[in-house]
Amino acid sequence: MIDLPPPSLRLDFDSAALADNWRTLDRMSGAASAGAAVKADAYGIGVARAVPALSAAGARDFYVAHWSEVPALAALVPPEQVAVLHGPMTGADCAFARVCGVRPVLNSLDQAARWKAGGGGPCDLMVDTGINRLGVPMDALGDPVLAGLEIDTLMSHLASADEDSALNDRQLARFAQACAAIPARRRSLANSAGIALGADFAFDVTRPGLALYGGVPRAEFAGAIRQVVHPKAAIMQVRRIAGGEGVGYNATFIAPSAMRVGVVSLGYADGFLRARGPNHALMHEGARLPLLGKVSMDMVVVDLAASPSLGEGDWVDVPFDLPAEADRSGLSQYELLTTLGMRLRA
Ligand SMILES: *Cc1c(COP(=O)(O)O)cnc(C)c1O
Repeated sequence: MIDLPPPSLRLDFDSAALADNWRTLDRMSGAASAGAAVKADAYGIGVARAVPALSAAGARDFYVAHWSEVPALAALVPPEQVAVLHGPMTGADCAFARVCGVRPVLNSLDQAARWKAGGGGPCDLMVDTGINRLGVPMDALGDPVLAGLEIDTLMSHLASADEDSALNDRQLARFAQACAAIPARRRSLANSAGIALGADFAFDVTRPGLALYGGVPRAEFAGAIRQVVHPKAAIMQVRRIAGGEGVGYNATFIAPSAMRVGVVSLGYADGFLRARGPNHALMHEGARLPLLGKVSMDMVVVDLAASPSLGEGDWVDVPFDLPAEADRSGLSQYELLTTLGMRLRA
């Protein structure tokens, strides 16, 4: 087969920044070691890119949500380093876990019973200390079905670690009770934001996701976390439009006078959602190229006035400083990452 021609859209990936972020989070985790949440295709940047860099940096615990995410990950790291957060909802999930050699995170007494019925083996156990999402409730920790499980990691998940909320200390106290009640090889409570809450929250393993990929969930991380991915898109066509002409669907932008505009190969299918349309800009060497009209599926139109030398085939930068873009768009830093489209992934 003939090689693919060069793309008009790409995601520059800074593997050194990802490795540095992991090392920073590992150091901030104190005596605990940092794992890595790589669910949702490593938050949209691509497991195939992210996991080898994380593994080389020293990460030994990887978390995905779905069973469908196991094969891509198990091709890159030993299966005993993989835990599946959604847990076994069926006997088929249990059989799959056992054959692959990955650990299910048991989230309920039913899941624990199902895992034991299928023959058991190493597993993790999620306890609900107050997020009221997945996890065994505190008042069920004495249930006999939990006895005799081979628990690698006893875990819980913080609901408000990105805020100075009283819920953090309440969850910490409940998790300490759970640790006293349930024997396990290791304990884990903190996500990215939880790592900044201090040594008490670190236990044996931390589970950062967002901050690995350049997100800043709490002020403590500002300046310590580096941007990992840099989307870039090419100008496909330069047009001169007359004053009074509309741009894009529904002509929501009308040129006030003659303009030179660029049609750029980037759209909402690539994760550049319409929330990033009006008042946003693409960039070129520090110059702002304001977006004109609506974001389309595969293209946007920008004003080239600030960079008159730009022409067809030239690349422009898509701003992706996560805290800044989240403030500007109303999207969360998580959404900015996980909506990166297939055309940008590894
Ligand atoms: C997604 C997830 C994480 C990672 O959270 P971040 O806020 O991205 O650091 C950790 N633990 C669990 C259970 C998760 O679902």
